[in-house]
Amino acid sequence: MVQKLSNLLRFLLSSSESQSQIHQADIDLREACLVCGIVLIDSPLYKQLRVCPGCKFHYGLSARDRIESLIDPGSFKEINRSIASIGSISTSSESTYIARLSADQKRTGLYEAIVTGVCSIGGSPTTLIVLDFGFMGGSISAVVGEKVALAFEHASKRKLPIVAVLTSGGSRVHEGLLSLLQMGKITVSYERFSEKKLPLISVLANPTTGQAFASLANLADITLAEPGAIIGFSTARTIKESVGKSNDLAINNAESQLSNGMLDSIIDRTELNETLATLLDLTNPEFRLSYRKKTKRNQTPLPKQRAWQSVGLARHTKRPTSIDYINRIVLNFFELKGDRASGEDPAIVGGLGHLGGQTVMIIGQERGNENNDNVNDGMTSPAGFRKAVRLMKLADKFEIPVITLIDTPGPNQGSQSEMEGLGHSIATTMSIMASLNVPTIAAIIGQGGSEGALALGIADRVLMMQNAIYTAMAPEEAADIMFGKSTSNEEVAESLRLTAADCLELNMVDEIVGEPITAAHESPDAAARQLRRIILINLTDIGNWSSFRRSRRRYRKFRQIGEFTKIMGAQHELQKSPINYTDASMSNPSKVSGSKFHFQETDSLEKIDVQRHTDRRPED
Ligand SMILES: [Zn+2]
Repeated sequence: MVQKLSNLLRFLLSSSESQSQIHQADIDLREACLVCGIVLIDSPLYKQLRVCPGCKFHYGLSARDRIESLIDPGSFKEINRSIASIGSISTSSESTYIARLSADQKRTGLYEAIVTGVCSIGGSPTTLIVLDFGFMGGSISAVVGEKVALAFEHASKRKLPIVAVLTSGGSRVHEGLLSLLQMGKITVSYERFSEKKLPLISVLANPTTGQAFASLANLADITLAEPGAIIGFSTARTIKESVGKSNDLAINNAESQLSNGMLDSIIDRTELNETLATLLDLTNPEFRLSYRKKTKRNQTPLPKQRAWQSVGLARHTKRPTSIDYINRIVLNFFELKGDRASGEDPAIVGGLGHLGGQTVMIIGQERGNENNDNVNDGMTSPAGFRKAVRLMKLADKFEIPVITLIDTPGPNQGSQSEMEGLGHSIATTMSIMASLNVPTIAAIIGQGGSEGALALGIADRVLMMQNAIYTAMAPEEAADIMFGKSTSNEEVAESLRLTAADCLELNMVDEIVGEPITAAHESPDAAARQLRRIILINLTDIGNWSSFRRSRRRYRKFRQIGEFTKIMGAQHELQKSPINYTDASMSNPSKVSGSKFHFQETDSLEKIDVQRHTDRRPED
């Protein structure tokens, strides 16, 4: 890859020609591949899509060829075609600029470095924005900014999604500040468009740098890139300088930006049309689940099982993980990656998919198992939580339900996580989940470990698989901290009340999802079928509620958690002597109505059914 990038950079930087002239050489048919050297002239793949059949290097495409490669044949209608520049910001460079514009207009057949229009992709009506690197390096002139803004307004009015294919070197130097401020114009136009809850999908081709990267590319809801493309804020010139200093070539390419959390996916040009068709379908949901027949359901009583046995099954190395369930539960799953801030955490896997014909956002904690090669410890890092938050916000925008699959021993703790804001990322995840305006379902499928699990668990309905566990800490850890070495892990596990049956009894979960008699790891298909069925039933149920009702029920659900009793006369005693209050509760629990936990009485607590909480205690 480094060699390939090195060739690419040499290709982009070694010439003293203008960027657009370099690009023209790139667009013209080549005899042999610049990267791997194989003969290209007879390759249908190269002729049609400018992709080398040997090394898969993606050469440049003109805007017209790009449009032809993406749309349903004959569906493109250009809009705002004949808007052209009237000159540069400075009179001294006016004549040079006009000569350049006119030369590029003649050569490309375009008035400017952009083509906009409406089309259909995979049957979905779409607004298309395509930059052309062959016209003055795809730089953002006042006309480019204007046509982008007009495309946003056009799409808003017709409620159409937007696909933007970008290849741009950055700003139009001849237009100076006028060019720079197009980013402001693009941003305010995008915000108006985004308010209509419509998706912007950006595709970054080689190269996408500077203004285009810091506006259209990064404003997008979903960002794709072509393999090997130079992508980043820094321009080719800056990269050249950086290479000279540090010899570090692989900073700004699609592959490194994906691992830095800045992209959702890298898509080969041969698969781009199909990918966009799927994404447009998923982000523009037309269908919603409803009951064909609703039957009364009762939770089947489950056989009592020892807690330590549940711990073993929940941690079983062959137990299905999130990705195993996702692949069995949803269709057309498209994984979205990255937190757009610091990285891509493989311990969180999430994306869009169809469940019973309805689009859902499904986000799972992934630990990997013996059946797949993505083995990690399943501990979610701050980047993982931020990715989950990003996907939840997308779901909220597209008005689609969120389903979380919980399976983690806990959050990824340590100095690196602390520096990246672990506490803040957990708090934000819970806060966003609590405030979503769409139906939310959380399913604990394996280990529901501590804050790492709860962060994805603030949902309208919380499900738990029969052999999963939900606990504030691992039994081994609890044995160390609370019980001393003499207590066995089995006894500690029992006292933690971490089984599905315990959690249902304690009202920590709403429903248990039964597993096959041999447990999920022996029959993953049967386990997934059962989980899918229960998710569908619950989703149909809460999907019919108004968002006001959902919000009120979600509030009550988590507001009521806790065990306490009302202390008669305690307020009076507290006012007299706060020290006595503390001493009394610590030294002689019988004085506070025999309850282990107690809360100061407030007006809002009065409204809660206190009696319901007085007769259950953790050690019951
Ligand atoms: Zn090649």
